[in-house]
Amino acid sequence: MHGLMMDMPLLISGLIRHADRHHGDTEIVSKRVEGDLHRYTYREAHARARKLAKALGRLGVKMHDRAGTLAWNGYRHFEVYYAVAGTGSVIHTINPRLFPEQIVYIANHAEDRVLFFDLTFLPLVEKLAPMLTTVKHYVLMTDRAHMPGKTGIAGLKCYEELLAAEDDGYEWPEFDERTAACLCYTSGTTGNPKGVLYHHRSTILHAYGGALPDVLNLSSRDVVLPVVPMFHVNAWGLPYSCAAMGTKLVFPGQHLDGRSLHELFETERVSMSAGVPTVWLGLLNHMKEHKLGFSTLKAVVIGGSACPPAMMRAFDELGVQVLHAWGMTEMSPLGSVATLKEKHLRLPKAQQTAILMKQGRAPYGVDWRIVDENGKELPHDGKAFGDLQVRGPWITSGYFKDEGGNPLKDGWFPTGDVCTIDADGYIQITDRSKDVIKSGGEWISSIDLENIAVAHPAVQEAAVIGIKHPKWDERPIVVAIVKKGQSLTKEELLKFYEGKIAKWWTPDDVVFVDDLPHTATGKLSKLTLREKFKDYRLPAA
Ligand code: AMP
Repeated sequence: MHGLMMDMPLLISGLIRHADRHHGDTEIVSKRVEGDLHRYTYREAHARARKLAKALGRLGVKMHDRAGTLAWNGYRHFEVYYAVAGTGSVIHTINPRLFPEQIVYIANHAEDRVLFFDLTFLPLVEKLAPMLTTVKHYVLMTDRAHMPGKTGIAGLKCYEELLAAEDDGYEWPEFDERTAACLCYTSGTTGNPKGVLYHHRSTILHAYGGALPDVLNLSSRDVVLPVVPMFHVNAWGLPYSCAAMGTKLVFPGQHLDGRSLHELFETERVSMSAGVPTVWLGLLNHMKEHKLGFSTLKAVVIGGSACPPAMMRAFDELGVQVLHAWGMTEMSPLGSVATLKEKHLRLPKAQQTAILMKQGRAPYGVDWRIVDENGKELPHDGKAFGDLQVRGPWITSGYFKDEGGNPLKDGWFPTGDVCTIDADGYIQITDRSKDVIKSGGEWISSIDLENIAVAHPAVQEAAVIGIKHPKWDERPIVVAIVKKGQSLTKEELLKFYEGKIAKWWTPDDVVFVDDLPHTATGKLSKLTLREKFKDYRLPAA
């Protein structure tokens, strides 16, 4: 017997309609590429998204067609999110920090029909346009006054003019909730980038899941500033979760330096923000240098790579709670967040911090297990570490156009991360499976060794990689940047490891550099570093 509830598909258009009808006067504030601050409301955003939906129809963009974007976090990008998915087309957010050849590859692979882009990327798009074989329309996300006088892009359209030509009398269509809605490519470490294709249903479930108290804890009393870009896994779902909760949004545009962020946090009364460790480093340095504090910020989500303990301490001293989160493009991306359970509330602070430093627990919607090389499940005892596999309604079952074949193992998605799971269900990521250092048949966690290095007061940033060793197979070395105006010797840094780890984990060498390579999403590029150090000879080897 079926139940008698209404059969309403879970569609992304429903989120913006809800935000308009129930939080119509809640603000969305954006630092614009044009330089000024723009503010309007969910009601106006919805009206403009409907106008854009009409404009897309006029451009001949059909259901399932892909619309690419090269854009920062801003209200126009937000409108494109809703207009494209709302009409049944697919928004394909492109990371502008990728190499130009990669952008061309993924735009062609996705078969983008239209490309929306910010003024910043005009020179890039002019260069790439001749190689983009499927794009029929280029839309510059600005007004007439900022349109270029001369451009190599034939038929370049002005975003504001497209909208001005339409009215908002548009009804969002209803269709199957499993219809594709958004496409994000993940760079991966080998081969070409692969597309992860979210559907409406997965996006809505993820929006609900992301807002829960033990996840990002969002409400209509919050002001959220997503530093994490809208071109990286949909800014961790915040543009959807915030619309669902009626949360005020503050978009920082392209200025992610410490000073710009701090100013915006203060003037817009931001209560929660989210981003990768690298951006927080810039903000914390700026605040320390100018002896600044926060008046409204309560929490920051840190994810994308491991949050170093020193960073958590720095936020703690500023009265800000760190929510250490783990996830990946293939998981929409939220996989876990570290928060305490009731039984932890009376523990001493040091023990609580040790729990919060882990990557956290799974929200309902994510299930996981760890397995050994033979696929045998390992115990959840906080000691055994193995390959982490996940499953759930917002986790991918494969890649766009079946690239790479079926990735699943017995119905589980292998994350490529290595971790422990403790008896309370908290995971601790020890490494990417490719980054883990194998010494004498045992595993050494590069993340642990990096965390210790960056806790040294003279270290700006550090990466640990394995170097071939004739006897031990691999041994770790630290590649570190020393803070400006400070000095540090190899011996001093190695001494700093004493008593913090098993002796045999101590790195064999330290190399000081001026710069470390990062990926397009701001993570340390161990691949580039390993390549650079492939002929490196260890002192004792
Ligand atoms: P991406 O798909 O680009 O978001 O990258 C996902 C990968 O980033 C994961 O598989 C992890 O290896 C890494 N990652 C994300 N969050 C964390 C975290 N909190 N700690 C350690 N690694 C993380």
